[in-house]
Amino acid sequence: MMTAQHHCDVPAAAMAKPEALVYPFRLPNTASLIEIAPGILWLRMPMPLTLNHINLYLLAAGDGWLVVDTGPATAEAIAVWASLFDGPLAGRRIAGVVCTHFHADHSGLARMLCERSGAPLLMTPREYYWRLAWPGMLTEIPAEHAAFYHESGYPAELTREANGIFTSLALVLPMPLSFRRLREHERVPHVDGDWRVLIGHGHSPEHAMLYCASRSVLISGDQLLPQISTNISVTAIDPSAEPLSEWLASLERLLAIPDETLVLPAHGLPFRGIHARVGQLRSHHERELRSALAACARQPCSAYQVSKALFPGPLKGIAHVLALGESLAHLHHLARSGDVVSALDGSGVRRFRACRATQLTKGEEHG
Ligand SMILES: [Zn+2]
Repeated sequence: MMTAQHHCDVPAAAMAKPEALVYPFRLPNTASLIEIAPGILWLRMPMPLTLNHINLYLLAAGDGWLVVDTGPATAEAIAVWASLFDGPLAGRRIAGVVCTHFHADHSGLARMLCERSGAPLLMTPREYYWRLAWPGMLTEIPAEHAAFYHESGYPAELTREANGIFTSLALVLPMPLSFRRLREHERVPHVDGDWRVLIGHGHSPEHAMLYCASRSVLISGDQLLPQISTNISVTAIDPSAEPLSEWLASLERLLAIPDETLVLPAHGLPFRGIHARVGQLRSHHERELRSALAACARQPCSAYQVSKALFPGPLKGIAHVLALGESLAHLHHLARSGDVVSALDGSGVRRFRACRATQLTKGEEHG
């Protein structure tokens, strides 16, 4: 989320090996509706961010369409939707609006689309309530958040930038005041065909994916992206979270889906090769865990120091805080498995250090 960047924009060493995945569709030139298969349309919506697009999908639903994700509330995205409603969607009913998760690029225009069409909003409960609970644009750093950044060893000059993560609210219209609940394994309402809801965790609290086994198609949202690694973060709002275990477990569950399935991701190109991509992402996190552990074996490290080890390149804007969040996610995972322990130092900064047994095995191996 949060800004569209929040989710997946940390420059990571997780670029997919192109040969491992197959991309059956080319990059479209314009934000137009592209037929992926009968009854499945793809719309690559531009975004004014480093991550410059989000893929939206429309699924045939009787005499209309089910919209899957909305795009952010930008003038450009609103104009794209207006041109579609005046053009190829003219006279067509919108049967429902699915937001796979609460992040701004996925839910920003939910209210506009629902109000215009009278269609229901379809979300998992935790995503809907997280959207409602997300703080407004914060001009002052709340004391709780300041404490989180201080404990992480975050430089004071970056903390103000970190607060910018909440400016994503500028990309979201107020949400509709009711929603229809999506439940795991249940059929997706309104849509033609046997589409089922799958749930993933770790990137956001209860991320919905839509899967049609008979057509071998998975709309994966941010749960499986072909070219960038999804951001897995601990945030100031929920500082004791350990999202990486949930994320890795969700990745494993994707292996139950046949490898020939066409994956329609929220960012990047549609692809085949779920199993290869799951393997790449698993390896990516294993490398990050080893790097974090090696850093903590050399000396007790703050989360910020670990983030510099994991993301050594220059980072702009909120990429800093995404890197911090991702580093904490890996540190909390290591702490849970007993590989690191942490304590506050004299200045209130939490230092993580590798456990002795770990240093002698994993630390030497990778240090
Ligand atoms: Zn996201």
